[in-house]
Amino acid sequence: MTAETVDGVGGGRPAGAASRPPRPDVEVVVIGAGAAGIAAARRLLALGRSVRVLEAGARLGGRAWTESEVLGAPFDHGASWIHVAERNPLTPLARSLGVTLRDERRRVRDILLAGDRPATPAERAAHDAACEAWEAAAETRDASGGPDIPLAEAVPRGGPWDATVSHWYSAIISGVEAERFSLHDYVRTGLDGENLQVAEGFGTLVARLGEGLPVTPGAPVARLRWDGAGMAAEGEWGALRAGAAIVTVSTGVLATGGLRFLPELPDAVQAAIAGLPQGLLSKIALRASGAGRLGLGPFARLGRQVAGPGDHPISWMLWPWDRDHAVGFIGGEAAWTLAREGPAAAEAFARAELARYVGPVEVARSFAPGAVVTRWAEDPLFLGAYSHARVGCHGARAALRDAALAGGRLRFAGEACHTRYAGTVGGAWSSGERAAEAVHAALG
Ligand SMILES: Cc1cc2nc3c(=O)[nH]c(=O)nc-3n(C[C@H](O)[C@H](O)[C@H](O)COP(=O)(O)OP(=O)(O)OC[C@H]3O[C@@H](n4cnc5c(N)ncnc54)[C@H](O)[C@@H]3O)c2cc1C
Repeated sequence: MTAETVDGVGGGRPAGAASRPPRPDVEVVVIGAGAAGIAAARRLLALGRSVRVLEAGARLGGRAWTESEVLGAPFDHGASWIHVAERNPLTPLARSLGVTLRDERRRVRDILLAGDRPATPAERAAHDAACEAWEAAAETRDASGGPDIPLAEAVPRGGPWDATVSHWYSAIISGVEAERFSLHDYVRTGLDGENLQVAEGFGTLVARLGEGLPVTPGAPVARLRWDGAGMAAEGEWGALRAGAAIVTVSTGVLATGGLRFLPELPDAVQAAIAGLPQGLLSKIALRASGAGRLGLGPFARLGRQVAGPGDHPISWMLWPWDRDHAVGFIGGEAAWTLAREGPAAAEAFARAELARYVGPVEVARSFAPGAVVTRWAEDPLFLGAYSHARVGCHGARAALRDAALAGGRLRFAGEACHTRYAGTVGGAWSSGERAAEAVHAALG
């Protein structure tokens, strides 16, 4: 990591000790150096505020993380698409840094299996129609103005492709089954428009945007005191006093006490956090063992029809940027189960899934042993992939975004706080900027 580190953070005494410094160490402490934290720090510095970002982990970027060692090429463990690129604040930043971008708006599957054979043109047309009908039904029901209901109750069921569409839009894209997902939240945070992929990795881009910021890595904040004139962030590394704080850790971390507040957060804020649990999307990457590419070109997409209850297909993208690996995506309950069972189970599941397309012999021949399995569920710094609203909790994002504690000097930011682009890097980024401006105003 190339972030600046500073002497003095790590040696402080907990707030309340006799030698507590009378003045804050910085004007604003930002907790977490993911997209929201980086954006908040950049904006605060531009506004002339002194800032310190405390990051528990060893790197910048949080859930935007590119790692290039294991597969011998950039691999995004977390975010990889700049969604709604036309309106995403990361798009102009990416262009200004000169990274290589690819428009992926069109996500037609190169292979779509119906049962154990490729879908016929008529079946593909029925699949596409089912996708449109599913989205239209959710939007119509949402617009009808009734009370919030589970997404599953608003969409078509029983058609040959309905369970497949539901699996794709809810479990995989949203990380949660439609039965447990707020209809209103689903519709209001739906993503459309252009999707850009970054050759160097989306995580690389976000980390580059954090270069040179005053970040202290390896500084997990165990407690945030907000009872006095200012804030005190404390951990085993010491303490840092600030006039204001922006908290950007995931709702999974907040809900499980990975960061404690003294005094405790008001009930309404705790309710908002509880209403926005983390869903899960996991990736399982396999590396080709030779030059063979299964007859498929770069970015090939593979998907299959859901056979019935309990069937959780992996969606595949093969050979991104003409690289020699395949990436499988599995979300929702099946992903949580695989996270509990461990990487070996995930690899076996992925190989069995790929075998449905090309047979087990071809899988064994084409892919080297081993897999890269993402670990967002297990990592205590994240505890999931991105948030969704529980049924009836569609107002929780605005509630968390607008919570202005300690006279507006304690604010929350991050993907869960964005009412339109929740669950995305762009949403986290905008949320961080917004919190920075609010805190700046509160400090006077
Ligand atoms: C598999 C996967 C695929 C995804 N795909 C996409 C995609 O294609 N496009 C897209 O836009 N988004 C995608 N996302 C979502 C996107 O990555 C997130 O919405 C976004 O990165 C969240 O940023 P954030 O700043 O809100 O939170 P985070 O990135 O979680 O940042 C919070 C930071 O706080 C740190 N932290 C935690 N606890 C503490 C503590 N106690 N003290 C100090 N620091 C702490 C964490 O280490 C972390 O760095 C994906 C996510 C996953 C997991």
